Amino acid sequence: MEKGLLIILSGPSGVGKGTVRMEILKRKEINLFYSVSLTTRKMRPGEMDGREYYFVDDAEFQKNIENGNLLEWAGYVGHRYGTPKDKVEQMRRSGMNVLLEIDVTGAMQVFSNLKDDDGVVSIFLCPPSMEDLEKRIRGRGTESESTIKWRMERAEIEMNEEKHYQYVVTNDSVERAADEIVSIIKRRSAALNSK
Ligand code: 5GP
Repeated sequence: MEKGLLIILSGPSGVGKGTVRMEILKRKEINLFYSVSLTTRKMRPGEMDGREYYFVDDAEFQKNIENGNLLEWAGYVGHRYGTPKDKVEQMRRSGMNVLLEIDVTGAMQVFSNLKDDDGVVSIFLCPPSMEDLEKRIRGRGTESESTIKWRMERAEIEMNEEKHYQYVVTNDSVERAADEIVSIIKRRSAALNSK
């Protein structure tokens, strides 16, 4: 039985991780399973429990940490987010490539927990420029001037983390970035299973 990859996709807020993720999930030839995380944050309009996240309260999240159910977890803007471990392992064993869209703190935990696992593929998605990122955040038209400033400051910090990733992909166009990620996945999957 072929073993699946564990693909970690990170990048600063506003870079378009969600859009790129949706595009690569459409590409059926790469056998991709998206790992739905647990979060303590409130559900946003349009979200569904079990699709974007499993929405849990603090006590349940804590129980999952204590029972060792999480592959990694991190706090982000007052809430906690984590990856259910069993599902990831089960899907990889069944030959699926598993995609995690997680922040840099969580990614570092995966890198250190699974440092001998050559099926781990880490990808950092970056904007073509910081001006472009600011334009995208402003383009959403939903944030106040102070929030935009805060997000941009945080993005500058997050951009320094790209050096920890195996691949850096520029989101200059969703299609092109998705093509590049798909070809990375195909290459790494073939290498893993030719051993
Ligand atoms: P949002 O609240 O906008 O959905 O997500 C906030 C941040 O949390 C994003 O950077 C997202 O990638 C990250 N995130 C989502 N799920 C997880 C997870 O399971 N673990 C970690 N470490 N970060 C996550």
